[in-house]
Amino acid sequence: ATPAATMVGSTLSATNGVLFKGGDVLEQVRGIDTVVFDKTGTLTHGEMTLTDLELVGERTATDGGTVTGLERREDLESFVLGAAATAESGSEHPIARAIVDGATDRDVEIGEVSEFENVPGHGVRAETDRGSVLIGRRKLLEDAGIDTEPAEETLIRLEREGKTAMPVAVDGRLVGVLAVADEVRESATETVAALRERGTEVVMLTGDNERTAAAVARAVGIDPDNVRAEVLPEDKADHVEALQNDGSRVMMVGDGVNDAPALTTAQVGVAIGSGTDVAIESADVTLMRDDPADVLKAVRISEATISKVR
Ligand code: ADP
Ligand code: MG
Repeated sequence: ATPAATMVGSTLSATNGVLFKGGDVLEQVRGIDTVVFDKTGTLTHGEMTLTDLELVGERTATDGGTVTGLERREDLESFVLGAAATAESGSEHPIARAIVDGATDRDVEIGEVSEFENVPGHGVRAETDRGSVLIGRRKLLEDAGIDTEPAEETLIRLEREGKTAMPVAVDGRLVGVLAVADEVRESATETVAALRERGTEVVMLTGDNERTAAAVARAVGIDPDNVRAEVLPEDKADHVEALQNDGSRVMMVGDGVNDAPALTTAQVGVAIGSGTDVAIESADVTLMRDDPADVLKAVRISEATISKVR
């Protein structure tokens, strides 16, 4: 872009809550034909709350609760939530915060953690005073030799509701399922519709499971064929690269540490303003108001700016 274009662009952007890193970005934005949205924290608020706590597996009241010695449903539920929240107390993930807050709100005590391991894109593993706890994706438990089949029906039901559902195991036994949910940002649906209307391909990229991703995609109007779910943090950038190798010019919109490499790889990286510092540093554009509708605004600013200078 010419220096004049740069100047006009930044002036406009400052008043609109859209921050461009330099004038070249305007031209890049103008050329994009595909917008890839991260799900959590981008299309949704990223503020999760604990919505469900279900007893499944071995320590339930129905099989006598023999392992814990607990029999009352309430006590068993507190045990499961307490174990999960204790394990999650070492994690910064929005899921972890939802579980810890959910426990606190229900007066369930958080215990002590002696060893903690965050398994990115999968969950957490922790040694606690409640036992050895695993919580996260099915695979995390299965890799530890725990059969998640008894939880499957519950997991599927919750995922169909667009929730992130996670099996919990204590001392190698499946004990329950927790679910967290997040609200779609108000303008996400109209933004997706407006982008599609102008012929832009809209894609969703998420580490969350297929069913949860599909439910959120349906809610915001993204084509089910354009949903890439269960994408590991390190693979997000590869998906963007694959689209670009197929000839798409990609704008990636994200908020998380996980999104940073994809933001760098995309023709245009766009960070949500309240997102992580790494995401903002990796992006070319920052949406100061956290509003997905500002993606459209960025596109319009780039078009207006460049046509004015020409
Ligand atoms: P996203 O791309 O939606 O931000 P992540 O890559 O961080 O998701 O996580 C992918 C999946 O891994 C989550 O949907 C969840 O099932 C599981 N997971 C990640 N972190 C945690 C955690 N702290 N506790 C439980 N499960 C987790
Ligand atoms: Mg995110």
